Amino acid sequence: MSTRTSRVLHRSLRETPPKAIGGEGIYLFAEDGRRVIDASGGAAVSCLGHQHPRVIAAMAKQASTLAYAHTAFFSSEPAEALAETLVGHEPGGLAYAYFVSGGSEAIEASIKLARQYFIERGEPQRQHFIARRQSYHGNTLGALAAGGNAWRRAPYAPLLSAAFSHVTPAFAYHEKHDGESDAQFVARLAAELEAEFQRLGPNSVAAFLAEPVVGATAGAVTAPDGYFRAVREICDRHGALLILDEVMCGMGRTGTTHAWEQEGVAPDIQAIAKGLGGGYQPIGAMLASGRIIDTIRSGSGAFQHGHTYLAHPLACAAALAVQDVIREDGLLDRVKERGKQLEQRLTERFGNHRHVGDIRGRGLFWAIELVADRASRTSFDPALKLNQKIKAEAFANGLGCYPGGGTVDGVRGDHVLLAPPYIASVAEIDLIVDKLGTAVDNVLRSVNH
Ligand code: PLP
Repeated sequence: MSTRTSRVLHRSLRETPPKAIGGEGIYLFAEDGRRVIDASGGAAVSCLGHQHPRVIAAMAKQASTLAYAHTAFFSSEPAEALAETLVGHEPGGLAYAYFVSGGSEAIEASIKLARQYFIERGEPQRQHFIARRQSYHGNTLGALAAGGNAWRRAPYAPLLSAAFSHVTPAFAYHEKHDGESDAQFVARLAAELEAEFQRLGPNSVAAFLAEPVVGATAGAVTAPDGYFRAVREICDRHGALLILDEVMCGMGRTGTTHAWEQEGVAPDIQAIAKGLGGGYQPIGAMLASGRIIDTIRSGSGAFQHGHTYLAHPLACAAALAVQDVIREDGLLDRVKERGKQLEQRLTERFGNHRHVGDIRGRGLFWAIELVADRASRTSFDPALKLNQKIKAEAFANGLGCYPGGGTVDGVRGDHVLLAPPYIASVAEIDLIVDKLGTAVDNVLRSVNH
C-alpha cells in the first residue's frame, strides 16, 4: 500500500494498492516486483488462475468478431452456447439463463423474477422473502436488504426493504447448542423457518434465499446434512420458491458444478457469477426453472427487468471458454483432490493451534476461524482487526487471502478464506498453507497472543 493519491476511487481512501501488472497461473505480479499467490482467487473468482491461454484466445477471437450487441435487438452465438452448457439438462430443472454483469445483478434479477412469477400466477400477496443472518448476497440495495451481514447493512439500513426477514443460519460452530446432534440442529432451524413462514402469514412468502456454502460473511460454512432438504420441503409445502445464491460457492468451487448437487435438492432460481467467467470478464447469471419462465411466457410474456450489458457477447465468450476448460481438463476432479489435500494441510497446521477454533469448507473453498479462546469459542476483540492484519501480513509475504468477520456485532469471529484456483499444484497448495501459517503466527505474536 502507498499513500500516494489516485484518481481511482479505491475502497481505502487513505491508501492506494499497488498496481497489478501481470499474472500467470496462480500468481499475480505487482508493480513493485512482488509475485503474489492468488490464494483466494480475489474473492473466489479466478478459478483458472491468470492469463489462461485458451480463454485469452477465445476472447481475442470474439473481440475481433463482435464485442457488443444490445439484447433488445440481438442474441449472440456465445450467449446461446453458454446457456446450452449451463441449463436444460434435467427435466423440470433449471432451463433458462439470464446473463448479467455480476453477482449482485444476478440476485436482483432473482428477487424480481420470483416476485413477477407470483404476480403472474395471481398470487400478488406473496411479497416477503426470508433469508439468513450472517449471509451476503451483494451490495446493491435489493441484494443488501436480502443479505444478513450486519456491518455492510448498517449505514444503509433506512434504505433497505422490509420485505426481507432473516432467520438463524446453519452455522454449526456458532449456532449449534452443546450436546445437540446434527439432526436436532437441523430440526431446530427448520422449526424456526416454519415459524417465520407462519409469522409472515399464509401464502405471503415468495421465496427463501440462501448460500449453500456461505462465503464472504462467515467463511466457507457448510450446512449439516439434511438442512437443505428440510428447507426445500418447507418451501414446497408453503408454495414458496427456493433461490440459491451460488455466486461464490458455485461453478465447481466445491467440487461439483453446483454446490446444491451435494445437498440433495435443486433450486427454482439460482444466482451464479465469480467462477462463471473466472474474472476474465465481468459476468454473472440468473438460472431459472422452466415452470417459472413458462408462467411468465403465457402471462405478460416479458421479464420486466433489464440492464444495458445483458448477455454481453465478449463476456459470454470468456465464460464459455472458462467452462470448456473446466470440463475438458477434468478440473472438478482436481478440485476434489486438491480440496482433500488443502483440508489435510490446514488440519495439520492449525488443528492444534490454540487460536484456531474451526477449520471448515468443501472442495477448494476453506476457511479458518481465529478465536481468543478455543474452549469457549470466544472471538477476539473486533478492535484488533485481526483478519485485516493477517491479510496485510500475508500479502506482504506474497500471499493473497480473503479476510472476514470480527468487525462488528452480528458478524462473528475473525476468519480467513482460501479459494485457490482449480489449477493449483500439490506444491502450491502446500506453499499457501505454509505462508498462511506464518502470517497467522506473526500477527498473533504482534498482538501478544
Ligand atoms: N452473493 C454472494 C454469495 C457473494 O459472495 C457475492 C460477492 O461476494 C455476491 C452475491 C455479489 O456479487 P458481486 O460482488 O459480483 O456483485
